[in-house]
Amino acid sequence: MGAEGGRVSLTGTVRESSGGMYRIRLESGEEVEATLRGRLKRASRAGDRVVIGDRVDITLAEDGSAAVEKVLPRSTIIARRVLGGRRPKVVAANLDRLLVVMAARSPSPSLSTIDRFLVTAEAGGLEGIVVINKLDLPDAEEPASTLAWMYEAVGYPVHQVSAVSGRGMEELRAVLCSGWSALVGPSGAGKSTLLNALDPTLHLRTGALSRKVDRGRHTTVTSRMIKLGCGGEVADTPGFSDVGIWGADAESLENCFPEFRPYLGHCRFRGCSHDHEPECAVKQAVADGDILQSRHESFLKLLGEARAIAPEPGG
Ligand code: GDP
Ligand code: ZN
Repeated sequence: MGAEGGRVSLTGTVRESSGGMYRIRLESGEEVEATLRGRLKRASRAGDRVVIGDRVDITLAEDGSAAVEKVLPRSTIIARRVLGGRRPKVVAANLDRLLVVMAARSPSPSLSTIDRFLVTAEAGGLEGIVVINKLDLPDAEEPASTLAWMYEAVGYPVHQVSAVSGRGMEELRAVLCSGWSALVGPSGAGKSTLLNALDPTLHLRTGALSRKVDRGRHTTVTSRMIKLGCGGEVADTPGFSDVGIWGADAESLENCFPEFRPYLGHCRFRGCSHDHEPECAVKQAVADGDILQSRHESFLKLLGEARAIAPEPGG
């Protein structure tokens, strides 16, 4: 903290972002509303936004107004690639983990969606966790244990839960009630219901219908960090519910599949894309049953998407 010409400099965390207003929690615990200083505003328009979770330097003027002066380095990011856009769009910063929530059934689980989100976690430096919900439904057991087996084999923690019956919720609580998390996954997987079950005071809206109605309205998009009664914080941003194009660029994509890593560098060709090339160590591992075929398929699908996005000129 410093003071200069009647202004006070402080550091805080962005807890809410809505239409150019940022709610910042200061280190003292006090919260202030701030706008962006001119330079940051221009950067923001160019796509380099200030996002929830960001640590920022702000100044408080004598009239009580606050301005974000600077974004401090981010430890992790959740980024979304926008088709036609040149750069990933960051939607949240400094979160510890990404929980990929899938229903065991209704809606049917999608492996490529799980893999897409896990790549987002890997690319942004977050811990990836798979949550399989709705275990209370009839015939949920079998698809759930198949998913659990697959992703445990890859090396991710898996939680099999039911927001309705409470099964597995104590373990999930232990994960969510410390640090900062984000829940992602298709609409209807039960993300809001799970959070309401962990903290009934949240009263988050549930049901795919209410959300669809919401999206049609041209209201200001609000992103915020939700504090759970048990202590953890969860990012709530509309950008998460879309299954857009997420993840890494073509060159770094292979590193976002942790089980590929032992084989990287062992292909015959340098720069092997693990697609059509002969003597590919990754494809051999798939043939040997050491890498799941569905994961290799997801890799190829995402590789195709990453290549379809034009790289930034000169970069
Ligand atoms: P979100 O779009 O991922 O936030 O999903 P919601 O929380 O809105 O839930 C979608 C629907 O699934 C709602 O009708 C919930 O009541 C239902 N649901 C959520 N969790 C469970 C669960 O564990 N079991 C069952 N049977 N239904 C659930
Ligand atoms: Zn290869």
